Amino acid sequence: MKVNYREPLYLSRYFEVMRDRLPSQFLISQSVDVDFSKESPLDELIELHDETMNVFRETRDTLSSLKELPRRAASSLLDLKSAIADRILVSCIFCERRCRANRKKKEVGFCRCEAVSHYSAEFLHYGEEPELVPSHTIFFTGCNFSCVYCQNWEISTAPQSGISILPQELAGIISSRRVYGSRNVNFVTPTPHTHIILKILNALKVNIPVVWNSNMYYSDEIARLLEGVVDVYLGDLRYGNDDCANKYSKASDYWNVVTGNFSTAYVSGEILLRHLVLPGHLECCTRPIVEWTGEHIPKVRFNLMFQYHPVYRAYEYPEISRTLTPQEIQKALQIVKESGLEDVLV
Ligand code: SF4
Repeated sequence: MKVNYREPLYLSRYFEVMRDRLPSQFLISQSVDVDFSKESPLDELIELHDETMNVFRETRDTLSSLKELPRRAASSLLDLKSAIADRILVSCIFCERRCRANRKKKEVGFCRCEAVSHYSAEFLHYGEEPELVPSHTIFFTGCNFSCVYCQNWEISTAPQSGISILPQELAGIISSRRVYGSRNVNFVTPTPHTHIILKILNALKVNIPVVWNSNMYYSDEIARLLEGVVDVYLGDLRYGNDDCANKYSKASDYWNVVTGNFSTAYVSGEILLRHLVLPGHLECCTRPIVEWTGEHIPKVRFNLMFQYHPVYRAYEYPEISRTLTPQEIQKALQIVKESGLEDVLV
């Protein structure tokens, strides 16, 4: 149970968007004008995108209220982002696995997601961090990780299950949930579905903070598209080294990729970092994660999570086939206390 809730120190823009005082980043991207042809070579589109991001940043940094948001552009930066994601889909590099599968032709990569995305459930979630709830959580099926202790394995391993997404329809549901009190829209396991999420946001007219609930294992190309779309990176930092990431999630080069993405997110949005403490992984994972965070991205909301329990295939790994001991919980708390991190939720 969360017992020490107080207003987070480092999610101030999120609260301004949530209270309709500032526009969400995707609405600003809808308003930034950019002329382009979808037929242009991909590298030209990306170059144009990166140039136009300067206009986005200037607009974002000068807006002092939602009322000042310029009108929607006939051809917008968000249209361009969406066109780029669609092009990447024919040789998928949404995440750092870089499978290069042509998902438009039903080829699949590691995640086994095709071009059409599915979700297993969407609802107002009251079990997320206190500052997020009620959070309109949308659970996509499929995943680009393969965690042996996955609590959502029934949906993460069945990418074609659930409800097929029609972007316009889901945008309508998001708008309705906002009217009924959602504080944000929370896309869970979003990376393989980046193209669909951009389409959903392009169809959306309401102001709402966008939460990217992710393992942060996306490619640099996607990191660049996410700036100007994501308000809060709700990111997992799970492993403190590549060996543990490989062993339990089949993710190579984990540390460089994920810390790189956290560093980028630190500049382009706000971060709510989740660290799930794993049994027996205090020194190899918890300590380096806490120390890196304190040194490189100290102004984040840090959620230290103790709810690990062995499910799915965790029994195949005796060292994590148990819950945390009270001593491990105390140790993790001590590590965080010594780090000097200021905004910790436990
Ligand atoms: S999202 Fe990642 S795992 Fe899935 S096909 Fe694309 S590169 Fe591969």
